[in-house]
Amino acid sequence: MTHISPHPGSPSPARVPVVVIGAGPAGLTVGNILRAASVDCVVLETESREFIEQRPRAGVIEEWAVRALEQRGLADNLLERAGRHTACEFRFDGSGHRFPYTQLTGRHHFVYPQPLLVTDLVHEYADRRGGDIRFGVRDVRLHDTDTDHPSVSYLCPASGERRLIHCDFVAGCDGARGVSRSTLTARERARVARHDYGIGWLALLAEAPPSSDCVLFGVHPRGFAGHMPRSPEVTRYYLQCPPGDDPENWPHEHVWPELRQRLAASGNPPLTEGRLLEKRVLDMHDYVVEPMASGRLLLAGDAAHLTAPIAAKGMNLALHDAFLLGDALAMYLAKGDDSGLAGYSEACLRRVWDYQEFSQWLSDVYHGTASGDPYRAGTTLARLRRLFTSPAAAAAFAEQYLGTAAHY
Ligand code: FAD
Repeated sequence: MTHISPHPGSPSPARVPVVVIGAGPAGLTVGNILRAASVDCVVLETESREFIEQRPRAGVIEEWAVRALEQRGLADNLLERAGRHTACEFRFDGSGHRFPYTQLTGRHHFVYPQPLLVTDLVHEYADRRGGDIRFGVRDVRLHDTDTDHPSVSYLCPASGERRLIHCDFVAGCDGARGVSRSTLTARERARVARHDYGIGWLALLAEAPPSSDCVLFGVHPRGFAGHMPRSPEVTRYYLQCPPGDDPENWPHEHVWPELRQRLAASGNPPLTEGRLLEKRVLDMHDYVVEPMASGRLLLAGDAAHLTAPIAAKGMNLALHDAFLLGDALAMYLAKGDDSGLAGYSEACLRRVWDYQEFSQWLSDVYHGTASGDPYRAGTTLARLRRLFTSPAAAAAFAEQYLGTAAHY
């Protein structure tokens, strides 16, 4: 039988109100909100601090999310260093069509690479708010989360011993490959809705300055291409490819001509090329777990729902969940008010489903002309033209792109 030890020889508590699994944007935001409310918690993370502070992923944060981080004292560096984007550009039929969303709405997108946000959130939680975070843990297991005395155990990286922490709640923030989702979905009541786009994206990070001041969407018969500025030195690019494609099929000398062709627009300078720092194929799919909570286990972020990076929504949804979950747990544990916990799943899912629907819509736009179906190509171009001729269509797109609907 496995030997389980609370925390032998360690001053760390064997009981805390909340165990947070996963130190991504969701888990670290929940941890910070709890620390600010003087609620004790432990964050468990399988990777090292260095690894999570360098893992490249998202870069676009919606303005409402930045303001919510700011209200919680979590956006000082972001506000100082992030780029502010005011427009995006669709490139099709050999021309560029700029969509000035800030002019229409007064709102921005903030561009701040996910590793920088994670670095800020870890620093605030562990170094400034004195939060307990354990890196490099192995084989995390959830116990009795359908009772009111749950616990979490893990293998300590230093001793190899299994450690046990009793708690009141488990926040499952361990992303798409964690253990929390399968624990919750093993229960009868939970349902997982899935969608597979049947396409792949080659995700590239290039050591090259952006070739435009804004995000570019290349809608081309050869397939979609994207250009996303990340910093003055680094640009993310995407190329539509077959699902399951091997990144090795895309050497430097294939990537750049393909990007040039799919992002071509008359009157624009050629793309600035650079060394490819990251090259991997993402099979585009989505899922949503409903409800996002069961018993004392509450999911947040990619653990509960995945949104293919089509509309740059995943990290924004992870932050939205984390604000609601952190506030709801703090309200219950500090004041005994359970209204936030009771409405948590429903409140998250309204925005989740709205963003899922927008990703579907945008996927049709991105991939329609390359589908080989002249009917889909025709309707795709009609949608694109409507964005630039109908103020009502432009306003609806801007609202969804920026996540600014008044009610979700
Ligand atoms: P994660 O960031 O995945 O964090 C989960 C953490 O849990 C990780 O640190 C992981 O190591 C840890 N973990 C896993 N298993 C365990 C376990 N068993 N025990 C303990 N810890 C565990 N989103 C946007 O909003 N905008 C974008 O522009 C954007 N671009 C993207 C580009 C790419 C190429 C990719 C892949 C994603 C992109 N996303 C984007 C999505 C975004 O990165 C994710 O939605 C976001 O990271 C979700 O945050 P999270 O905290 O829920 O999960």
